[in-house]
Amino acid sequence: MASIFTKIISGEIPCYKVAETEDYLAFLDINPNAKGHTLCIPKKEVDKIFDLDETTFHGLMEFSRQVAIAIEKAVPCNRVGMTVIGLEVPHAHVHLIPLNSMDDARFMNKTKLEKEEFEKIAAAITSFL
Ligand code: 5GP
Repeated sequence: MASIFTKIISGEIPCYKVAETEDYLAFLDINPNAKGHTLCIPKKEVDKIFDLDETTFHGLMEFSRQVAIAIEKAVPCNRVGMTVIGLEVPHAHVHLIPLNSMDDARFMNKTKLEKEEFEKIAAAITSFL
């Protein structure tokens, strides 16, 4: 069965898109730790990030780097942190999280955002790419 992220890639499930290339997609996490929390994924569906082939893995890192630089320009924060977990969605992804304190990295305190805020943040990040 296709992963929820493959359904996002195909457009079956909507997302707040930040960036897209032929091989990668970045979109806002629906349950963010902080404003601007973004997920970067390869379009190739592979569960564990370290099972990706070398080219796709390195491409994902470079794509994530570019998106992180744009997030830092668009979202006021101390820095952008990068985390890989993957316990919830079995489709390799990188979390890029604007950090102001250690709490933002903990996946405990979630930030509730309205549709308009998601749209505004996604557009702001995209504008710096
Ligand atoms: P992980 O697999 O790394 O533990 O977490 C998966 C992440 O994907 C979570 O932060 C969760 O909020 C996010 N997520 C799960 N389902 C969706 C979805 O349908 N849309 C979006 N944008 N994010 C999702």
